Amino acid sequence: MITRKKLIAGNWKMNKTSADAVALVGDLVATIGRQTDVDVVVCPPFTSIETVAKALDGSTLKLGAQNMHPEASGAFTGEVSAPMLRALFATHVILGHSERRAYFAETDAFINKKVLAALKNQLKPILCVGETLAERESGATLKVVQTQLEAGLDGVSKELAPSVVIAYEPVWAIGTGKVATTEQAQEVHAFIRGLLTKLFTEPVAQKVRILYGGSMKPSNAPELLAQKDIDGGLIGGAALEARSFVDLVTAAAAVK
Ligand code: PEP
Repeated sequence: MITRKKLIAGNWKMNKTSADAVALVGDLVATIGRQTDVDVVVCPPFTSIETVAKALDGSTLKLGAQNMHPEASGAFTGEVSAPMLRALFATHVILGHSERRAYFAETDAFINKKVLAALKNQLKPILCVGETLAERESGATLKVVQTQLEAGLDGVSKELAPSVVIAYEPVWAIGTGKVATTEQAQEVHAFIRGLLTKLFTEPVAQKVRILYGGSMKPSNAPELLAQKDIDGGLIGGAALEARSFVDLVTAAAAVK
């Protein structure tokens, strides 16, 4: 049986100046900087990527970005590319977050281009999928997740698929304090694992980490992280303070 190492990723969104970012990362490095039982990724805004990279140097914590453009360079004002992120030692990039889809009109096809560009540049994409409340209430959850997943992973090879991380983030649970029940989350995670099996074969699907995201905090994490197909968390609000983020990493490390 394959055991997947848990992964806890902090999505800071549009929060923290460089100085605030360095202070937070300093606390994380001091407390969990030698963590090896769990993969830990912090995703600051672009403005703090370089200073955070320096602050993380020598620790086991990894650096991620919250978005990127699919092209390597060119006339794309305001955008940042995969090679630029790699040059700053980023290892991960969040793609297709529901806020990008909703506020910046990102389509599955555009997100797919980013996934392929990330992989081409040795960045691990954290591909976000998830349904809105209206979609859940109309019984469309699995269909929505399937469409986003299949389109997002179009053209990804079996060899590179284990480098992809999937984040199941029900939109109605993001930043709302309404967490999915363990049953709701595990049902979708198992469904995603099944889709990955169809796309890439069973042994490959068993290697892919599927994170849960949506109001995960130290109080609800142990139960969610104990589910068979929940391999970690993508954390928004609770990643903004060292205490709660460290507690989440500790909760992930405690799952047997
Ligand atoms: C997110 O935005 O990815 C997220 C999960 O946010 P929160 O934890 O605040 O719900």
